[in-house]
Amino acid sequence: MSSETILKVKQNHSGKYRKGYPLISKNAITDIKLLREEGQIIKLTDERGKFIGRGYYGHQNKGIGWVLTQKEEEAIDQGFFHKAIQTAVNFRKKLYNDPETTAFRVFNGEGDGIGGLTIDYFDGYYLINWYSEGIFAFRSFVLQSLENLVEYKAIYEKKRFGKQGQYIDDDEFVTGERGDFPIIVKENGVNFAIYLNEGAMVGVFLDQREVRKRIRDHYSKGKKVLNTFSYTGAFSLFSALGSASHTTSVDLANRSYAKTIENFSLNGIDYEAHDIIVEDVFKYYKYANRKNLSFDLVILDPPSFARSKKTTFRAEKDYTALLQQTISITESMGTIVASTNCSKFNMNKFKTFVDRAFKDSDHQYKIIEEYSLPHDFKSIPSFPEGNYLKVLFIQKLT
Ligand code: SAH
Repeated sequence: MSSETILKVKQNHSGKYRKGYPLISKNAITDIKLLREEGQIIKLTDERGKFIGRGYYGHQNKGIGWVLTQKEEEAIDQGFFHKAIQTAVNFRKKLYNDPETTAFRVFNGEGDGIGGLTIDYFDGYYLINWYSEGIFAFRSFVLQSLENLVEYKAIYEKKRFGKQGQYIDDDEFVTGERGDFPIIVKENGVNFAIYLNEGAMVGVFLDQREVRKRIRDHYSKGKKVLNTFSYTGAFSLFSALGSASHTTSVDLANRSYAKTIENFSLNGIDYEAHDIIVEDVFKYYKYANRKNLSFDLVILDPPSFARSKKTTFRAEKDYTALLQQTISITESMGTIVASTNCSKFNMNKFKTFVDRAFKDSDHQYKIIEEYSLPHDFKSIPSFPEGNYLKVLFIQKLT
């Protein structure tokens, strides 16, 4: 690791960094040209040379690096990584001890003190996500810390720093004994099939754990459920286990069909009693409207950005229209679970999309519950955009 490079923070930005803002952005600093090699240690000072923080250089779509410490005497070394990961592991003790949930996040980037790095746990297997070449330069520190701190069956890793922050496909096994995939993990007693070495997504999005449980325990019984952008059918599965009368899962990706069947079967649910449809959601909506279909519970969990043959969906622009179409196929007094992981807008803005959609549809509504990230997806007050998940349970009134 090279010795540290001193970068000056522009005067109008220094207050924010003093308050603990962790993301280093290009427009906040002078002397950008001093940044040569990702992983380079950066010392941030104010324009008069007074210490602000120490971090590293690493390109992500969000910024060009992360502040790791505000203590001048603290070095970014093996001990630093050990301490951060140890603290993070201890913070999840309750989840480690919960036999009903064997998949959760162990380390959540800047929320746990190191932006650009996440670590997930899947029943004894660890999965490290590297979000920049810069953080990847600290790989041996992270691995050594993890190996010293936890027992593991194996460690896997994903590199998410290809062009435009894309995932780089590779053999992702690091150490331990290779897993025999799928491995089966549990979430609140429900089984999921997990594949750690098969592309960017592993089979489940762990940040929706509380929402899935809530849907199973309080919103499903006797209900006709539509799950859009259903991926491996996780929400449908929880609905079915909560005694939904029927579920329909819709996803564009071919893989979603077999993976949804697999998850249903792992939980003793007869998948043939449910509909699993491989289709563009917007096309399905046209069909549903034509046929006058309606549902008691509709789950919307689209990606922030998606392009299909016919449509491009951008959450910040198109969520309102998605809601409008959803309202027309939701029963009166039915529930819409609207979710987004888009970090370009906050909860208040998201609520304005809901309001607009209902006003345009001439229906009244009531927001009955709100969710954001669960405990293990730790976030910090100085970086609210890190708490990206926004979920609204909306009741359609008359
Ligand atoms: N709700 C899921 C996660 C969604 S991931 C869960 O709880 O696990 C996003 C999914 O949207 C992907 O599976 C992708 O294939 C699907 N998708 C993207 N655009 C789509 C479209 N236009 N119609 C249907 N599915 C789409």
